[in-house]
Amino acid sequence: MKANQTQQDALLALAALDLEISRTRREISALQNPDRHVEQVQQQRALASALVDARNEVDRLELELRRANQDLELVEQRIVKDKAALAASSSSKDAVGLEHELSTLARRKGELEEASLVIMEQLELAKDSYEQVLQSKRDLDTSVQQLAEADEQALIKLKSGLQLHDSRRAQLQQQVGDEIFAAYQRRAAKGIAAGRLESRTCSACQFTLDAIAFDKISSLANDELANCPDCDALLVR
Ligand SMILES: [Zn+2]
Repeated sequence: MKANQTQQDALLALAALDLEISRTRREISALQNPDRHVEQVQQQRALASALVDARNEVDRLELELRRANQDLELVEQRIVKDKAALAASSSSKDAVGLEHELSTLARRKGELEEASLVIMEQLELAKDSYEQVLQSKRDLDTSVQQLAEADEQALIKLKSGLQLHDSRRAQLQQQVGDEIFAAYQRRAAKGIAAGRLESRTCSACQFTLDAIAFDKISSLANDELANCPDCDALLVR
């Protein structure tokens, strides 16, 4: 098959461009892979669930503290009431009973105050832990958002590059002409369709020609396209 210098140059440019196009397509499909940031997404889910747990723990302790404080209030009211009754009582039997109840109430009050302090400490810790999880989640959400934006930008750039490649390919198709282009396309479906013979090596498949094959190709006219005996690529010399 005959090919003048312009056609030979265009043929090599076409092969190089097709490599670039496949690389670009691979990059696009990698960017569009839904599992691309699977680790971060799993981490996001784990943090969202940890945040719910941390919030529930804060709510639970707040409820517990409210209950302890209500109990304390009831005991305090009872103490006030019993003290008033004791002051007003004229019966020594009643007074003994009231004093006994007051000492029980004082013990109960002490227990409730202590329990309330313990709950408040636990609540502080639970709130700190909630804030920490919340901050981690916000940080991760921001970084996932940034990753998605960077992917989107890269995708836009690659797609517009692909459009340029396509129009450049159409130009090269015209330059190589119908016959060579058809031969090129047939080979391109199987692999790299054209290469240069560099010393005795095919640049498409890296096969090194033996002396007989090399002599055969060398004997061809300059404007005759050779084929690689190994990968069948169109060979420009
Ligand atoms: Zn080859």
